[in-house]
Amino acid sequence: MAVRRTGAAVTGVNAPARIFRTEDELARLPASERIRYRLVTADRRHHANDNIADQIHAGELEELKAEVAEKVHEVLRALVIDTDSDHNTKETAQRVAKMYIEEVFRGRYVPMPAVTEFPNAERLNELMIVGPITVRSACSHHLCPIIGRVWIGLLPNEHSNLIGLSKYARICDWIMSRPQIQEEAVTMLANELQERVKPDGLGIVMEADHFCMHWRGVKDNESAMVNSVMRGAFLKDPNLRREFLSLLPNRKNS
Ligand SMILES: [Zn+2]
Repeated sequence: MAVRRTGAAVTGVNAPARIFRTEDELARLPASERIRYRLVTADRRHHANDNIADQIHAGELEELKAEVAEKVHEVLRALVIDTDSDHNTKETAQRVAKMYIEEVFRGRYVPMPAVTEFPNAERLNELMIVGPITVRSACSHHLCPIIGRVWIGLLPNEHSNLIGLSKYARICDWIMSRPQIQEEAVTMLANELQERVKPDGLGIVMEADHFCMHWRGVKDNESAMVNSVMRGAFLKDPNLRREFLSLLPNRKNS
């Protein structure tokens, strides 16, 4: 990432200013500017699929929601929709802001769900498959829904940490509920699980429908995208990989 080290103010609408701001000055800025200032000062990437929860202070999510609602209202106005007299769109800006911040993009703004790890006391070392886990995400390109399923294959060893089955779904949901790119989403999920569980092998398969392909563009109804990440033993051992893939139930394109 290119980092600007100069003390001078950066001009341009979207260029983050690398100038020092006092707490008083920060307090007067909109919440999004304040959070962006912290991220830029800390040299932190803040792409659509990055989590920025640790740079958000108490109460700021409410401020963000109000700010997003105001901007969505501007979008509706730019679309020449009369939100004053149209009862259907009167509250749309608030609804969309709430949906983005609290639901569909929530994985950007809240910390990872608490996950308890257990030592592998039984020394399990057999292939374990978790899934299908329902995926609800959105594409970074159009902010259109991505709806799909994920399967996780793990080959634990005696040093692996085991986590409860429902926790896989919660970690997956935390990563997916951001504007995503499917290839990056599976890699992020693999990194998170590798770090937590430390298995000998890890395989992830994601199959998803991209609504930007149905609703717009080519309007193709058969556009499920499948991709996978294989690590460790799943990469080295074709038999293990084959076993994992053959055990994925109800896959559309197997
Ligand atoms: Zn798209």
